[in-house]
Amino acid sequence: MLKTVAAFDRIGEENAFAVLARATTLASQGRDIINLGIGQPDFRTPEPIVEAAIKALRDGQHGYTPSVGIAPLREAVTADLHKRYGVEVDPGLVMIVPGGKVTMYAAIRLFGEPGAEILYPDPGFPIYRSMIEHTGATPIPVPIREENAFAFSAEETLALITPKTRLLIINSPANPTGGVTPKAEIDKLVKGLAAYPHVAILSDEIYDHFVFDGETHQTLLAYPEIRDRLILLNGWSKTYAMTGWRLGYSIWPKGLYEQVRKLSVNAWSCVNAATQYAGIAALQGPQDAVHAMVAEFDRRRHVVVEGLNALPGISCATPGGAFYAFPNVAGTGWPSAKALASALLEEAGVAVIGGPDFGVYGEGYLRLSYANSAENIRAALGRIAAFLAQRQVA
Ligand code: PLP
Repeated sequence: MLKTVAAFDRIGEENAFAVLARATTLASQGRDIINLGIGQPDFRTPEPIVEAAIKALRDGQHGYTPSVGIAPLREAVTADLHKRYGVEVDPGLVMIVPGGKVTMYAAIRLFGEPGAEILYPDPGFPIYRSMIEHTGATPIPVPIREENAFAFSAEETLALITPKTRLLIINSPANPTGGVTPKAEIDKLVKGLAAYPHVAILSDEIYDHFVFDGETHQTLLAYPEIRDRLILLNGWSKTYAMTGWRLGYSIWPKGLYEQVRKLSVNAWSCVNAATQYAGIAALQGPQDAVHAMVAEFDRRRHVVVEGLNALPGISCATPGGAFYAFPNVAGTGWPSAKALASALLEEAGVAVIGGPDFGVYGEGYLRLSYANSAENIRAALGRIAAFLAQRQVA
């Protein structure tokens, strides 16, 4: 037996990929599966973006690029942030990375070590906790509560900070809950953070385009008082239906940029060149495909929430953002949301994720991604209804 380092005994994963694999296996055996498990838009990458990548390859963009990304892409990122949020960002602080996860990886590596505490949302994206544990740091969950519309509470978050806290991770709009934290709460958090200058902040804003009901996303970049310790995570995966391209960006404080640049040279060198040109086309081209996609998600959001609330034992708050519903299933009598999710896949042919896959505070909930057609969502809800009516609690 080869012996690997202990850090790999402490690395977790993302169960959405395991559910996807199981759903794919069942489908290959002839089962009819409706997938509400995976968090990726069911749209094609808009054509002008695909064309830009093809052109870049034809133009001979085959080589390494600067590890931080090509300058026109970094400038396109800052221009986009200025246009959408009115914020000024130095393109010299933008890092182009292979997907949103890479920013998370880098930020947690920078601050995670034994003895350090890192605060992260629970329920939240599972990789936060997994990476924190991998570094040997202590994960401190910040409970995200249904009674608070799945927004984080500034007060509860600030109360968890200790002298050992090195990094605070926040995510709005949020996976898996669809929760959007209101500006007033973010104002309060930023104000409170003034008392804790030793804490860096990672703001995961990958769903920033997916905000409904006429609300606008509140970016942490809008607070100059924390810029010297703010790491912003964003990317193209969700907004432009580009999950498989692996393209993300981060904004770093001046004091951290050089370290992350070195990490990139050591680990991934750069994002492939053609994808970076596609990223420019995405930001600078027409945005109608994005608006149409968000409008379609909004329509489905109502279908899924209304459908879930009509089911016995299930109640679902209307999510303000992202493309997930996070229904409370405690009233179904199933003692474990994971067992219910598994039975729904195996017996009803509907792939969903159990809330505990997003943290201990996810017990009693399921995550349904509505990145599937309204027709399929309705069919899935019909299957869940039939399943709940027939099946005894395990
Ligand atoms: N952050 C959150 C909250 C996510 O839900 C995801 C993907 O599901 C990511 C980051 C990672 O995005 P990417 O696929 O670009 O690595």
